[in-house]
Amino acid sequence: MAGIYIHIPFCKQACTYCNFHFSTNLDLQNDFTAALLKEIVLREVYLQGETVETIYFGGGTPSLLSSQALCQILDSVSGHFNISQDPEITLETNPDDIDTNHLDVWRKAGINRLSIGVQSFFSEDLAWMNRAHSGEQAIQAVEDSKKAGFDNFSLDLIYGSPGLTDEKWDFNLHKAISLEPAHISCYALTVESKTALYNMIKTKKTIAMDPDKQASQFLTGVQKLEEAGFEHYEISSFARPGRRSRHNSSYWQSKKYLGLGPSAHSFDGTSRQWNVSNNALYIKSLMAGKVNFESENLLPKDLLNEYIMTSLRTSEGLDLQHVAEHFGKQTGNLLENNASVYIHSNQMVKRHEKLVLTRNGKLFADGIAAALFFD
Ligand code: SF4
Repeated sequence: MAGIYIHIPFCKQACTYCNFHFSTNLDLQNDFTAALLKEIVLREVYLQGETVETIYFGGGTPSLLSSQALCQILDSVSGHFNISQDPEITLETNPDDIDTNHLDVWRKAGINRLSIGVQSFFSEDLAWMNRAHSGEQAIQAVEDSKKAGFDNFSLDLIYGSPGLTDEKWDFNLHKAISLEPAHISCYALTVESKTALYNMIKTKKTIAMDPDKQASQFLTGVQKLEEAGFEHYEISSFARPGRRSRHNSSYWQSKKYLGLGPSAHSFDGTSRQWNVSNNALYIKSLMAGKVNFESENLLPKDLLNEYIMTSLRTSEGLDLQHVAEHFGKQTGNLLENNASVYIHSNQMVKRHEKLVLTRNGKLFADGIAAALFFD
């Protein structure tokens, strides 16, 4: 079982906090589609015939793709890969791109899951983030998606921004729940270098993030969403029963995936590859019949550390038997021993041979994982 990720590297405008690979120059869209279609052909052997369970259009802004380009890409993927009978096909969308025409095209093309970048229902916060939509547009976009028959949709929300009071965060959570999504993702606003937000803080145009406020808003989110019947199955991810993101779950289960498009990463079980993060270079290389990428072979310790990092973020936790089977019994024992300090501090529990972070431990997930890494 495997997944395919397709990176669409264009956005209408740059959100202040974003460090993903994208360009606001839309002139290369047609050339990009032509290059991507070539990459699909060149990469058809990467997954070695494994059945593809999930296809995920991410970005950038995939909802900017023309109907023709979207259909061409999906047709080509179906023609060159072994797609399962019941694939999950997700399209990341921004509310300002959602209308009845687009929704109709997406459904007919085979998209069966939408991930909608709401972020907030407060227009002033959206303007501060330089998002291209308003709070009202976000609500309308969700209503239109439901009317068009998309019952499997996820809403993205951001917490911890300077202007987001606890009252506003409560409102965003309640509003999101009332729209009846199958899934909600909540992300803490982080400050990445080379972003407008980084410069805004450096030049004191905005105040820095408050980690205590972020922690308390995270805990509020967990509590409210669990009370509303969502399962908190990964640090940032909440799903109605049976509605987990199959694509993201496959990353956390170390399944193979192929990444197509500039900056996309791939994993074949033993090595990782990443495509060049430059639209012009990506296109140029594919027009010459080559994929421009770098790669690294993963050592057993790299695979183990990735497993520690990803598994601790999930509600299933880190399986000590899996570690013993794949990395040796001694490694499993050492890991359990090293983790005991977090069990004593109530940041972790051991349940049926699995190490699972408590709600408090989830606040420090990345730090705890890093402390457990093997050199
Ligand atoms: S729309 Fe998404 S990818 Fe584009 S700039 Fe905003 S956050 Fe980044």
